[in-house]
Amino acid sequence: MSDEEAYREQLAYLLARSPFYREKLANLRLGGLDDIAELPLTDKQQLRATAGPENPFGAHLCAEPHEIVRIYSTSGTTGAPSYIPLTAGDLGNWITGSARSYAASGITAGQRIVSAYNAGPFVAGAALAGFDRLGLCHIPVGTGNTERLMQAIENLRPEVVVLTPSYAAHLVEWAAERGIDLAASSVERVLVAGEPGGGEPAFRAALEAGWGARVTEAMGIGDIGVSLWGECAEQDGMHLGAKGFVHPELIDHETGEAIEMTDGASGELVLTHLRHRAAPLLRFRTRDHVEVRTTPCPCGRTGPRIRCIGRTDDMLIVRGVNVFPSAVRDVVSGFGPAVSGHIRVRPRDGGVKQDPPLPVSVELARGADPDERLADAIRERLRSVLVVQTRVELVPHGTLARSEYKSRLVER
Ligand SMILES: [Zn+2]
Repeated sequence: MSDEEAYREQLAYLLARSPFYREKLANLRLGGLDDIAELPLTDKQQLRATAGPENPFGAHLCAEPHEIVRIYSTSGTTGAPSYIPLTAGDLGNWITGSARSYAASGITAGQRIVSAYNAGPFVAGAALAGFDRLGLCHIPVGTGNTERLMQAIENLRPEVVVLTPSYAAHLVEWAAERGIDLAASSVERVLVAGEPGGGEPAFRAALEAGWGARVTEAMGIGDIGVSLWGECAEQDGMHLGAKGFVHPELIDHETGEAIEMTDGASGELVLTHLRHRAAPLLRFRTRDHVEVRTTPCPCGRTGPRIRCIGRTDDMLIVRGVNVFPSAVRDVVSGFGPAVSGHIRVRPRDGGVKQDPPLPVSVELARGADPDERLADAIRERLRSVLVVQTRVELVPHGTLARSEYKSRLVER
């Protein structure tokens, strides 16, 4: 079935089964995929608002209780958890998409992969099933025990590790502090996911040098699917592994207007389920700000590729310019080895809009002394690359908290 046919069937299914979309789409001309931008967007708050004791999932639930085989929770960064139900078919499609996204990196059956995710109630669990599908030997280690993780790498000699980019960076430091040569380990590929950053050039270069391995990233969004996108060995943006299951669009974050997915375009990623059953979503705002590439990829995969610049929730606006903390970290990472790579953006004003200069704490490398010329050079590069005026404060090594999961780059 083509995406066009799947989309039209999905719309008919929503009208038949989803109280949420029956109301949202009432009296609208639905049309096909070419007309999708005329339909209203869906955001997380709207879904949450319809959930309650009677229906903990929300009014977008379409499936009967006996059809649901799995219920994940989102990590609830914005309050109470929300529940994500899946039918057997939905779960199968998630695993297929995830397996395709990770396969793009070049990992192959028979290789060993150590995972450092505490999947627990979260959708990451379905990504782990993707590794079984690919015929990998999966060694789950979880987070919270770096010693055990390093022992698994030493004893079991995996070719691949999968973790958040923050944890991958933390392990480079951890190994260096103990005189362990991580770059000499058996690991050839580091797959990062769970937060933006893995695709930022300077940050990635530092990870690759530390691990002596190729770093590629993957990305999904809980309400739509796990690891929907995955980067190939060309490292020039993520391909849509969930092709056929999900339709991507771009919008202006401020106005909600559609933006064409042409080469170099950027905006908020919006996703639509094409063949989902339990709680399908139409034009869901992911709050991920992405940049699009459409030039042919030498790997042969087709369709637009994306690189995630950051979460729109983390975005600050300094004198009219959008600033993503992960982009600040990337610029600062380019000053290695003089800096550790850890930063904190410390906005002075509440809300998104900030008056310049934007305060940024930059952590120095181990043993390095504060150097005004370094601070000036960082400030100057941030100004020329991101067009933002900052006040750079250099802080001693070890001052900024490390993370075994996702990093917090902004501190208010
Ligand atoms: Zn490719």
